[in-house]
Amino acid sequence: MKERIFIGVAWPYANGPIHLGHIAGAYLPADIFARYHRLKGNDVLMVSGSDQHGTPIMVRAEQEGSSPQEVAARYHRSFLDSWQRLDISFDLFTGTDTPNHHKLSQDFFLALMNKGYIYRGAMPLLYCNKCKRFLPDRYVEGTCPYCKFKGTRGDQCDGCGKPLNPAELIDPVCRRCNSTPQVKQSEHFFLRLSAFNDQLLEWVKGQSHWKQNVLNFTTGFLNEGLKDRAITRDLEWGVPVPVEGFDDKRIYVWFEAVIGYLSASVEWAQRSGDAERWREFWGGDTKSYYFVGKDNIIFHTVIWPAMLMGYGGLNLPYDVPANEFLTINGRKLSTSRNWAVWLPDYLQRYDPDPLRYFLSANMPEDADSDFSWREFVRRNNDELVATYGNLVHRVLTFTYRNFDGSIPTPGELDSRSKGLLQKSEDALKSVDDLLYRCRFRESVRVAMGLAQEANRYLDEKAPWKMIKADRDGAATSLYVALSVISCLKTLFAPFLPFTSEVLHRLLGCDGGLRDGGWTVGRIEPGQQLASPQPLFTKLDEVVVAEEDARLGGSGAG
Ligand SMILES: [Zn+2]
Ligand SMILES: [Zn+2]
Repeated sequence: MKERIFIGVAWPYANGPIHLGHIAGAYLPADIFARYHRLKGNDVLMVSGSDQHGTPIMVRAEQEGSSPQEVAARYHRSFLDSWQRLDISFDLFTGTDTPNHHKLSQDFFLALMNKGYIYRGAMPLLYCNKCKRFLPDRYVEGTCPYCKFKGTRGDQCDGCGKPLNPAELIDPVCRRCNSTPQVKQSEHFFLRLSAFNDQLLEWVKGQSHWKQNVLNFTTGFLNEGLKDRAITRDLEWGVPVPVEGFDDKRIYVWFEAVIGYLSASVEWAQRSGDAERWREFWGGDTKSYYFVGKDNIIFHTVIWPAMLMGYGGLNLPYDVPANEFLTINGRKLSTSRNWAVWLPDYLQRYDPDPLRYFLSANMPEDADSDFSWREFVRRNNDELVATYGNLVHRVLTFTYRNFDGSIPTPGELDSRSKGLLQKSEDALKSVDDLLYRCRFRESVRVAMGLAQEANRYLDEKAPWKMIKADRDGAATSLYVALSVISCLKTLFAPFLPFTSEVLHRLLGCDGGLRDGGWTVGRIEPGQQLASPQPLFTKLDEVVVAEEDARLGGSGAG
């Protein structure tokens, strides 16, 4: 039966380029999941966009002497370019600074206010006398009151992940001028989160399919009791508060950015020519998945669900398969210290699929995982080139040369050959089950295991020796190997889309890769093969030293 799948992916702040941590945390798993469901013939809508408001962008614009609009537009273009080159297959990647999003966020705000879930109140805020302004979120830094983590931003603690109000910080400092701010009262709007505490706890109890870390973190947070949160800020950049007398305030990014999932769906429907089509993905038995990093869990398992409960009539998340963090050479990724691998840099020098492969095989699914250039080069050379690439290349070149460039007709299959074909079917079933449950690492392991099996089979059968004495026997083993290769094309398609497209063409298949569905694929005797070419490129070991030297600006690590 056809399923309907909504995939929301975290909205990146448009204040810097995408790095590998973002990719491993949210974008790649979401894309693999979307491709898998499309191959299965399910209806998928995958959306996200640039988070173009908020203090990170304003801070960046001030540092550069430009405007928030300029900064947001520049990084939005950079994101679009990254998605295209890494082939992250969004149905729509928009931004929060569109008239559609502004209007929908304001409508959502008013709907919750009319139901009594948003109310007005005074709150203590930090005010810098030197800068003559309030210091929301990232304009201030201090020590976390909960875990004593130093250098905590005013919106959320990097140490314990708890959301904060700037006035809660111990020893706060203005990030613009380093002076100590004063506490001052200001009138704001609050989201009545406390009203949803019990309902959320009840709902979370039913989510036994969530990852343990997501479930534990959410339950722990709810058990502490939800506090109402201010959802407006003293800022001039963002979605205006749709209430008179609040002209100098804006809706808080974390309230409006999550509404982006809905506004992006509406925009996608409008662009598709059927303006009401978004409703299919927000009601009925559609399953909604939200792919985010672990620092974003609470916003997708507590705050957004509370907002949806208050609003009514729209689906709650079905799953939030949040990933842990990616470290670089064993150290925590840090953009300020340039301890990061930037995607635009990577894509300038290397092919996209080896990165997709590495990050899939090494995804931080249940625990933090590490990226190092040494491991990247090793996996590229040992696994992609020597195992998968070599299997495909030796079978295709030998068949092409000896059987008039076409798929040979097999004779009778012996039990070894039947056994291998059965392993293909088994792998297809097992990866199907794994991907359905967002188990990406294990999926890659199973697929690569099948490639190793096929290599062993070929070593035993040795059709290059057999062909002189027993041409039919050689034809049979090549036919079996080609069937397994066709199966690998499907298994790897969500992970290595460029490679599977090339392989689809090399195998001489008609139509698009997706038409074949989640199957072994048709390998017809007589089917004309394309002239073989290698799937992957071996990387020189020197890459490791070169790239390590780029890390942290100096290579010291
Ligand atoms: Zn903390
Ligand atoms: Zn200041």
